[in-house]
Amino acid sequence: MATPTLLILPGDGIGPEVMAEVRKVIGWFGANGRPFTVEEELVGGCAYDAHGAAISDAAMEKAQAADAVLLAAVGGPKWDKVPYDVRPEAGLLRLRKDLELFANLRPAKCFDALADFSSLKRELVEGLDILIVRELTGGVYFGEPKTITDLGNGQKRAIDTQVYDSFEIERISAVAFEMARVRDKRVCSMEKRNVMKSGVLWNEVVQQTHDARFPDVELSHMLADAGGMQLVRAPKQFDVIVTDNLFGDMLSDVAAMLTGSLGMLPSASLGAPDPKTGRRKALYEPVHGSAPDIAGQGKANPIACILSFAMALRYSFDAGADADRLEAAVERVLADGLRTADLIGPGGGKAVTTSEMGDAIVAALG
Ligand code: NAD
Repeated sequence: MATPTLLILPGDGIGPEVMAEVRKVIGWFGANGRPFTVEEELVGGCAYDAHGAAISDAAMEKAQAADAVLLAAVGGPKWDKVPYDVRPEAGLLRLRKDLELFANLRPAKCFDALADFSSLKRELVEGLDILIVRELTGGVYFGEPKTITDLGNGQKRAIDTQVYDSFEIERISAVAFEMARVRDKRVCSMEKRNVMKSGVLWNEVVQQTHDARFPDVELSHMLADAGGMQLVRAPKQFDVIVTDNLFGDMLSDVAAMLTGSLGMLPSASLGAPDPKTGRRKALYEPVHGSAPDIAGQGKANPIACILSFAMALRYSFDAGADADRLEAAVERVLADGLRTADLIGPGGGKAVTTSEMGDAIVAALG
């Protein structure tokens, strides 16, 4: 099999620092039987400085051709005043749009050593490992009409439109079922079928997709408000949650806080499978931003970016065992008490720099 291509986009602020640690991890896998052809490009403010655009056409071409794209973070105060169309975030939005990334994956995994960082009691989150699959390109954020109208009587009317076609629901639920197949084989679909027509259709299409294509996966349905409640009451009952753009936006942030620090949270955005190879376009990135307040100081936690690479191993490269190994290495380093500045809290720990954390994770890989 040809060596897969990984395009890395370190971006701005702490981006290059955390990506340097991912490079060490990629190097370890290369030396241990899983090589990648790694390309690197600019995105965000640094791309604007170099090319006058937040991502160049040449970089976009490489992103289209790559088997997966790994991005660290974009933005910072230096670019606060650049024109809207070329602001750093425009690079990220162009990647999501041009690669047609309709499925957003946000895992919430609690590492035992950090269970006391959660806003919930340790016993509720210890061992937690859930995945939220959020529809990313449809629903009320994009539906038309989307207007504010002056009613002429001192009142205004705002309209947003929640709209879903069945193909959009089918393709996002297929992603959720596929993910469940490499996890604990359980999907819970969340919508508001009791008050929304889009919820009725969502429920129907998810069920049909399940029955026709994924009968081996266990499917349950829950109203999204009850789902939010269950997420903070007993989060470990879930494996994969699939939901629309709006509910997913909220529920994934709720789930994220169950695990503690922003420096620990990876994510993925996936597109449709290629009809020939079956491989999906994919962008992996930490949830955090460019953290300009700590950039260049060796304080950034590289784990969110390293775990984003673990997601790439699992979901783009059929390398679940390697992803497990990398996650176990992170778990071991945390259990040994190593902590970047953001993780110093309950229980103390040994303070390490960004680079020392990366080295320790590589050492723990074996
Ligand atoms: P942020 O995520 O960059 O930082 C929020 C807080 O968390 C800061 O105190 C920061 O120091 C800390 N933090 C974040 N990541 C960390 C890590 N890996 N290790 C240790 N501490 C970490 O969010 P913000 O401050 O709102 O935004 C800063 C810049 O990042 C802005 O320009 C914003 O537009 C951009 N941003 C980019 C993305 C992205 O690239 N996907 C996402 C969010 C924000």
